[in-house]
Amino acid sequence: MKASAFCLVLCTIVAVSVTFAPAQPASAAETPSSAQSQTAQQPQQLKVTEYSLPPEKLAKAEALYQTRTVLYLFGMVFGIVVLWVLLKLRVAPVFRDLAERAGKNSFVQALVFVPLLTILIAVISLPIDIYEQHISRAYGLSVQGWGSWAGDWCKAEGVSLVITVLAVFGLFRIIRKSPQRWWFYFWLLTLPFLVLLIFVAPVILDPMFNKFEPLEKTQPLLVGEIEKVTHRGGLEIPRDRMFEMEASEKVTTYNAYVTGLGATKRVVVWDNTSRDMTVPETLFVFGHEMGHYVLNHIYKGLAFFAAMMLLGFWLARRIVLAMLARWGQAWHIRGINDLAALPVLLLALSLLTLIAEPIGNAFSRHQEHQADLYGLEVTHGLFPHNGEVAASAFQKLGEKSYAYPTPNPMLVFWSYSHPSIPDRIRFSLRYDPWHTPAGPKYVK
Ligand SMILES: [Zn+2]
Repeated sequence: MKASAFCLVLCTIVAVSVTFAPAQPASAAETPSSAQSQTAQQPQQLKVTEYSLPPEKLAKAEALYQTRTVLYLFGMVFGIVVLWVLLKLRVAPVFRDLAERAGKNSFVQALVFVPLLTILIAVISLPIDIYEQHISRAYGLSVQGWGSWAGDWCKAEGVSLVITVLAVFGLFRIIRKSPQRWWFYFWLLTLPFLVLLIFVAPVILDPMFNKFEPLEKTQPLLVGEIEKVTHRGGLEIPRDRMFEMEASEKVTTYNAYVTGLGATKRVVVWDNTSRDMTVPETLFVFGHEMGHYVLNHIYKGLAFFAAMMLLGFWLARRIVLAMLARWGQAWHIRGINDLAALPVLLLALSLLTLIAEPIGNAFSRHQEHQADLYGLEVTHGLFPHNGEVAASAFQKLGEKSYAYPTPNPMLVFWSYSHPSIPDRIRFSLRYDPWHTPAGPKYVK
C-alpha cells in the first residue's frame, strides 16, 4: 500500500484491468519445483465439493490472512498519518520555497517540488513495501530476488513520478485560472490521459516489469483449444491478442487478465496458470477473461472510475478549503493555489479513497462474478462437468495463494476485489441455468 494518492493514476490501471485472481501483493505456496512434482504425483485429484485446505496449508493460510489483515489496516491509516505529520512539520512549504527559488516558471517549480515530496513519501513507505515482499518470499508466493525487486520498485516510482509531475503542473495551472471550478476542469483533463494510459499500459508500462510472448508461440495447442471457447461465445479474439506472461520469474501464483483499450486490448495468461492447471481448467480461466472482454468490463470500469473521480474531486475541493481555513496558517500554506497545498489535497483524496474502497470493490466483485458466470456458460458442453472443472481451478488458485477459507465478511465487503474462493466454488458447483426455462444469461 503506497502512502498517498500519488499512485492514484497508476492505481486506475489496476482498477480497470480485470483479473482472474485477486491482485493482492501475494498469494502463495511452495517452490515452483515442488509444486510441479506435486501436480505430477496427483494428476487426478479428488472431486472438489467445497473449498478446503489440508491442515498444514490451513495453518499457513490463517497466519498469512492475519498478517495481511494487519498490514491492510495499518496501510489504511499509515498514508494518512504520514501526510498529516508532513503538514504539521511544514515540510511542503520548505520544498515550495526551494522550487520558487529555482525559477518563476511554474513547470520548473513543479519539476523541483514534486520529486522532493514524492521521493520523501516513497522512502518513508519503503519499509512497508519491503515487509510485504518479505512476506511474499517467506510464504513462497514470490521467487523474485531483492535486486530485481528493487529494480521494479525504482521503475514504478519513476513512472509514477513522471505522471505526477505532469498532473501536478496541470492541476495547479487550472487551480490558478479557475479557483472555483478547477475540480471539474481537472477531471475533464484527466479523462483523455486516463484513456491514453490504459491504451499504452500493455505495450509500454507492462513490458517494463514482465516479459510477454504471443500465446500462439508458447502454447500453440492451447490456442487451438481456446479458439473452441471463443467460437462457442460467438466471438473472434484474434490470436495476436492472446499473450503469455512469464510470471514464473517472479511469482508462483496463478492469474490471467484482460487489459488495454481498442487496438491494444488483449487477454494475458500467466505461464504458471497454464503450466499447473489442466487444459479444461485453463479454458475456464480463459472463459472468465473472455467474459471481461465480451462484457466490456474495461470500458465500464473506466466509466465507473471516472464518475467516482468527478465526485471525489468535487468533495476534495471542499475538504481542502475547510482544512486550509482551519490550519492553513499554522501549516504555512498560502492558499489552495499554493504548491505547498498539494499534501492537503492528497490527504483529502486519501480519506475519500478510504471511504470509496468498499464501493469500488463491490463494483469489482460484481464484474468478477459476471465473468465467472460467463466462463461457466461459455465452456458448457466443451468438456464434461465444467462446473466441477471451474471449482477445481478455484481450489488450485486458493491453495496456491493460501487463500483463507473463512475470511471475515466485513473484510470481504471492504477490501475484496473478487468474491471469496469458497463463494466462487459454491457458485460454480451450483450454477445450472440449462435446466431452467430462463436458460443461460450470456451464452445461449
Ligand atoms: Zn476477473
